[in-house]
Amino acid sequence: MEVKLARKRGFCFGVEDAIELAERILSEKGTGGVVALGPVIHNAQVVERLERAGLNQSADLESLAPGSSVLIRSHGAAPETYQQVRDRGLEIVDATCVLVKRAQTVVRQLHEEGYQVVMIGDANHPEVRGVIGYAPNVIVVDSEEHLDEVLPPRGRLGILCQTTHAPEHVAEMIGAIARRPFRELKVVNTLCLEVVRRQEAAVELAHEVDVMFVLGGLHSANTQELARLCREEGTRTFHLETWDQFKPEMVDGCRVAGVTAGASTPDFIIDAFVHKLEAFPAAG
Ligand code: SF4
Repeated sequence: MEVKLARKRGFCFGVEDAIELAERILSEKGTGGVVALGPVIHNAQVVERLERAGLNQSADLESLAPGSSVLIRSHGAAPETYQQVRDRGLEIVDATCVLVKRAQTVVRQLHEEGYQVVMIGDANHPEVRGVIGYAPNVIVVDSEEHLDEVLPPRGRLGILCQTTHAPEHVAEMIGAIARRPFRELKVVNTLCLEVVRRQEAAVELAHEVDVMFVLGGLHSANTQELARLCREEGTRTFHLETWDQFKPEMVDGCRVAGVTAGASTPDFIIDAFVHKLEAFPAAG
């Protein structure tokens, strides 16, 4: 089968830096010396590899021995988490992506400037849960449906967004908010261009192929978004973690397949998938 790759795909610099930092600290501290607060990135295969190298995971700071190091993952964490780590005499190893750090700073600045802060994002996503900890009473919105219930009736809003959201979705949300009678809206663009470039490349490729494979963690927000955008273009699309989930019927009647991958998908998964797909017979 002919396989085409998206011109931008896979690991972003934030994820690369987080893994590099985790590996460096592991080699210095040895097995059991470092504990991550949740998966370092949203990719089960990479997390398993780090676990095999000795990186434990825990959400319970109470159980950690004094002197242990705590790895804050690329999604970042709220200030209370940093405080709890320090209070227990644990060392912080901070792998928060610089762009997530910027979103945390933006939230604080908007609040200090007197705006009611609104974050466009998924309230359950770890990045959002961390970012909103940098100012009191941040409102999180992700659909137009409940805007009237959750937004104040008037006033000055300071708006930012989850780094991995699609620009079109953010633009729609800002448009919906702007149709309401707010005295002032200040919008700070906190979108990650790494994600935007992967989205553009995926949509471009979706037009050239019979079927799209989007590789990445099933819980990875940016990978889910890539799959959604490809489906929106009308292309048959599958979101898989690895080749193990591939089924021959997925490529029934297909001659050309496209492959892209989320920002937390390592090259070894992409390369193995492409290799096997290329060897798979195309439709006659
Ligand atoms: S996707 Fe963007 S914001 Fe998220 S870790 Fe990568 S570079 Fe940072």
